[in-house]
Amino acid sequence: MKTVIHWFRRDLRISDNTALSEAARRAEIVIPVFIFEDAFRTGPDVGAARLAFLLQSVESLRKNLAELGHPLVIRCGKSEEILPQICRETSAQAVFANKRYEPYAQRRDERITGILHAAGFGFELFKDAVVWEETEILTQAGKPYTVFTPYAKTWKAKPIPAPKPKFKTSNHHPLTDSIQSDGLPASPDQIGVPLTQTIPPGGERTALELLRKFMAGPVHDYGANRNYPAVDGTSLLSPHLRAGTIGIRTILAALKTAQANQAEGGTRKADTGGGGDVFLNELIWREFYLQVLHNFPHVTRGAFRPEYDQLAWSENQAHFTAWCEGRTGYPIVDAAMRCLNTTGMMHNRLRMVVAMFLTKDLLIHWQWGERYFMKQLVDGDMAANNGGWQWSAGTGTDAAPYFRIFNPVSQGEKFDAKGEFVRRWIPELKGFPDDLIQQPWENPLLLAKSKYPPRIILHEEQRVKCLAMFKAVKGS
Ligand SMILES: Cc1cc2nc3c(=O)[nH]c(=O)nc-3n(C[C@H](O)[C@H](O)[C@H](O)COP(=O)(O)OP(=O)(O)OC[C@H]3O[C@@H](n4cnc5c(N)ncnc54)[C@H](O)[C@@H]3O)c2cc1C
Repeated sequence: MKTVIHWFRRDLRISDNTALSEAARRAEIVIPVFIFEDAFRTGPDVGAARLAFLLQSVESLRKNLAELGHPLVIRCGKSEEILPQICRETSAQAVFANKRYEPYAQRRDERITGILHAAGFGFELFKDAVVWEETEILTQAGKPYTVFTPYAKTWKAKPIPAPKPKFKTSNHHPLTDSIQSDGLPASPDQIGVPLTQTIPPGGERTALELLRKFMAGPVHDYGANRNYPAVDGTSLLSPHLRAGTIGIRTILAALKTAQANQAEGGTRKADTGGGGDVFLNELIWREFYLQVLHNFPHVTRGAFRPEYDQLAWSENQAHFTAWCEGRTGYPIVDAAMRCLNTTGMMHNRLRMVVAMFLTKDLLIHWQWGERYFMKQLVDGDMAANNGGWQWSAGTGTDAAPYFRIFNPVSQGEKFDAKGEFVRRWIPELKGFPDDLIQQPWENPLLLAKSKYPPRIILHEEQRVKCLAMFKAVKGS
């Protein structure tokens, strides 16, 4: 093939990029293209934080490609119309891209395949975002896994592929300097999507630096530290995995090196609580939920276990708003939600705590929380978010059983014992002693003086109602 268009989507990087390295291997000329779809600002799940992260990451990609002498062609509009148009303009024979797994994206890719083929152009999709996709890992009976532990065991028994070669300069298209390229907005505000959060920086270099730092130390203590929101114990790579500013194979190779260096008895202390192995499990959870999405796409519309679509959820708007705004009166819940609203990020332990609180204390449908998270999160990802919500609500694959209900006070006391995280996000509670910071109502006078709200519900009462709500369905 002479000329191939590489269409960047959720793979905004030049290293370890399967479709891009295939394009470089098989074509004489590669034209890198990014399409700023209308849906980025009008779709139902649009979130300013994720959009800002994407814009930063595209800008960083543009710079990285420019250093290699490749201008990134940017077009705004509908990919269905733009791709055949660019193929015609540049006489490219095919479009290469990395696979996406969300049902809506797969439907669009099917449409694009039809359109490009009808116009005489090729369209090739490559597995890239995951090590094992769709139906590549099945049970012995040939069925998709619905339980994580055996899935992870099978995953680990398979070989791990090496990172793909970094994209280097290739021949230039004769029209390289004259192909039309649109500008991108510098921030979501410019296109009417107000950004109120201060989000972490995007881009491939940032991602690689985060990985380097994490593998240089914190990964070895990951097992011990990962549950404590006040500790910087996790990789913070989720927005990068979501935008594709880092490749999964790169992370796995770095993990292997970090573990090998330690096994050689280098200067590092031993892993505490499992370290790298626990981290690997989390990366596998990501792939587990992506295969759930592929094999059970109904999870995007309702419960994995359909009987749970009958649950009589509450529609209390005032409670929902208090949860969203971090005003429930439960400090660990409110601190987590305020952190999310301010930064677009939330620690995994806290995601479980607030999701359980919404579904099992406020008895509000997990889909309300799922939607709110997608609007706020920088790393908002359909598969992981849906999986996390259904796990917490007890309606999903390998979910927490419905009768497992986190107590927000003991979760706070266990994972934020000194209240460091709570004080960081709830200044009203700064004056409370450590032993009361997770249950400020125990000192009514001090609570009245602070501007912190009283509890909107009583956990013990709601717990009983929640069990009854689930039993009504299970018994029917
Ligand atoms: C209710 C709920 C909603 C969630 N929504 C999302 C979401 O929209 N996007 C998202 O990426 N993660 C989501 N998660 C999973 C998890 O909370 C985040 O991946 C994690 O907090 C990101 O921080 P980190 O990069 O420092 O993770 P680390 O602890 O460093 O983990 C490394 C990577 O593993 C993956 N990972 C870790 N835990 C999980 C998990 N439980 N499920 C799937 N993948 C995981 C992520 O890609 C993460 O970057 C959700 C969890 C819950 C309980």
